[in-house]
Amino acid sequence: MPRVTYIDGAYRAYADALVPFEDRGYQFADGVYEVILVRRGRLIDDAPHLERLLRSLRELDMPAPCALPVLGQIVRETLRRNRVEDGLVYIQVSRGVAPRDHVFPKAAKPMLVVTAKRRTWPAADATPKGVSALTVLDERWARCDIKSIGLLPNVLAKEKARQAGAAEAILVSADGVVHEGGSSNVWIVDRNGVLRTHPLGPRILGGVTRATVKTLAEQAQLRLVEEPFRLEDLYEAREAFVTSATSFVKPIVSVDGRRIGDGEVGPVARRLFGDYNAYSLAA
Ligand code: PMP
Repeated sequence: MPRVTYIDGAYRAYADALVPFEDRGYQFADGVYEVILVRRGRLIDDAPHLERLLRSLRELDMPAPCALPVLGQIVRETLRRNRVEDGLVYIQVSRGVAPRDHVFPKAAKPMLVVTAKRRTWPAADATPKGVSALTVLDERWARCDIKSIGLLPNVLAKEKARQAGAAEAILVSADGVVHEGGSSNVWIVDRNGVLRTHPLGPRILGGVTRATVKTLAEQAQLRLVEEPFRLEDLYEAREAFVTSATSFVKPIVSVDGRRIGDGEVGPVARRLFGDYNAYSLAA
C-alpha cells in the first residue's frame, strides 16, 4: 500500500488521501490518468506519458492542474517519499469537485492525485513467459485514444478473461477487427513474418510502450506495418504479444483456447522483450 499520496495540493498519508464524493471523476468518470514505469529509481518514457496526459486533458477541454515541469516534480517527490526504486507511478486528473450536474462546472479546480507503488520487474537476463488471452467484443466509446478513467468496458472484458483463466482480454470490433487489449496494445507476427499492430486513431490508445517497441522493432530491422488485422489473422499468426508500461512485451501463446503458432514464445516476442527490458534498464 502506498504510504504517501499527493492529493489536491498536498502530500498526505494514504488513509487521509480522500476526495469528496462530488469529485467529477467519482460521479461521471470525468477524468484522465497515466501509469508510468519506474526502474532503478528512473521514470521510463515519462516525457511521452506526460505529453499524452496533456493531450487527453486538451481533448476533454479540461484544464491542466499545473505546468508540466511542476507535475514532473510532484511525480518525482511522490516516488521519493514512497521510496520507490522499482514500481510504477499513477497520475489521475479529474475536472474537480462541483455540485452534481452533467455540464462542465463554471469554476472547478482540477483534482490531481499522484500515487506510487513498489513492484518487482524482470531481471536483466529474464526471458518472457507466454500467457493466454480471450477475445471480447469491444463495447467501448469511440474515443479510445483518450486515456479516460471511464474503464468499465475494460473492467468487464478483463474480468471475463480472468474468469476464463486468461491473462488479457483482446478487444475485437463487431466486424472482426482486433483493436487492442483491455489494458495493452496488441501485435502479431503474421504468416509472412510481418509485425502488425492497429494504426493510431480513435479505436485504440496510443501506447507509449507501443511507440518505444515500434522504434526497437525498426532498430532490429523487423518488417512492421501499422494496419488493422482481423481475428482470423490473430488465430493464424506465427506470434502474438501485447505491450504496456507494466506488462512490457508479453507474449500471447493462446487465444480463445487456440494455440498461436506452435504455442511457445516466438523469436520476435523474445527479442523485443529483451530489447525493451534492456531499454528500460538503461534509461
Ligand atoms: N491500451 C489500453 C486500453 C491501455 O489501458 C493501455 C495501458 N494503460 C495501453 C493500451 C498501453 O499503453 P502504455 O504502453 O502507454 O502503457
